[in-house]
Amino acid sequence: QAKEAGRNGYRFFTAEMHNGYTRMLALENGLRQAIDRQQLSLVYQPQYSLGEHRLLGFEALLRWRHPELGPVSPAEFIPIAEKNGFIVSLGDWVLDTALRQLADWRAQALPPVTLGINISAAQLRQHPLCDRVRLLLQETGVPAEALELELTESVMLDHPQRALAIMDQLHELGVKLALDDFGTGYSSLSYLKRFRLARLKIDQSFVRDLLLDDEDRAIVGAIISLARNLGLGTIAEGVESPEQAQMLHHMGCEQAQGYHLGRPMAAEQATLLLQAAVVCED
Ligand code: C2E
Ligand code: MG
Ligand code: MG
Ligand code: MG
Repeated sequence: QAKEAGRNGYRFFTAEMHNGYTRMLALENGLRQAIDRQQLSLVYQPQYSLGEHRLLGFEALLRWRHPELGPVSPAEFIPIAEKNGFIVSLGDWVLDTALRQLADWRAQALPPVTLGINISAAQLRQHPLCDRVRLLLQETGVPAEALELELTESVMLDHPQRALAIMDQLHELGVKLALDDFGTGYSSLSYLKRFRLARLKIDQSFVRDLLLDDEDRAIVGAIISLARNLGLGTIAEGVESPEQAQMLHHMGCEQAQGYHLGRPMAAEQATLLLQAAVVCED
């Protein structure tokens, strides 16, 4: 049987490659029309304070339904869009849509939540991001502090000076900056003090086995005390059980998001959640 597989190995491999490559091309071409053909949407994942369990914000996450291929994960199409530069238009669409949603919630006298938006390194490099954000804040009347831009350490890879300058401008505007997937990147800890961050997002890979793995627990503990000593907030990602939430709270983590607390949901569902939060508060 091994011999059989070996004999067919080459053909199998090229077929796989071909499929992967045609899929990539289809996605790349499809992306160009995704905005105009209204195939994109945002879903919103709630963020809660640990302990009081107050709904404090949402993270906006991009969704794409390809007409033939169905739903495509951002983990697959964002890297493609980054490579061909299309991330700039996608990113503009996300900013625009998310800020209009936030303005809409604020107009309805719902609890004043923050909204996290993922910004890719390519977007920060190639684009007058700060002008764009300033304009959108003016147009929508959303206060800058309600907006949190999520960056990963990869923003520092190519042009650290430029990235830092743009982050300074965003900070001046009053926009909050968060470091996403913290603990998984390559940058040195010394960047932390130059980044002008509001908070660290503890990556879900450290949260997954928090109750089973002493080392993950040690890393999460170190991130929380590092954040505290630098005056930064903390939010844990990927919280899937009440035990994880309890442990994180016990360890001093401030906020959490994850399937246990709420899945990413359509704007209508997020609105219902916000309306329910008003009732709970008094
Ligand atoms: P991220 O920003 O770290 O987002 C968190 C991811 O974890 C999301 O995946 C979310 O759906 C997922 N998640 C949330 N709670 C749980 C949980 O309890 N367990 C597990 N296993 N996963 C959970 P998603 O939506 O597939 O997004 C993947 C990545 O794609 C994001 O990671 C972000 O890097 C990128 N992305 C998503 N939307 C955008 C966008 O609008 N712009 C850019 N530039 N990147 C985006
Ligand atoms: Mg994120
Ligand atoms: Mg993350
Ligand atoms: Mg990520």
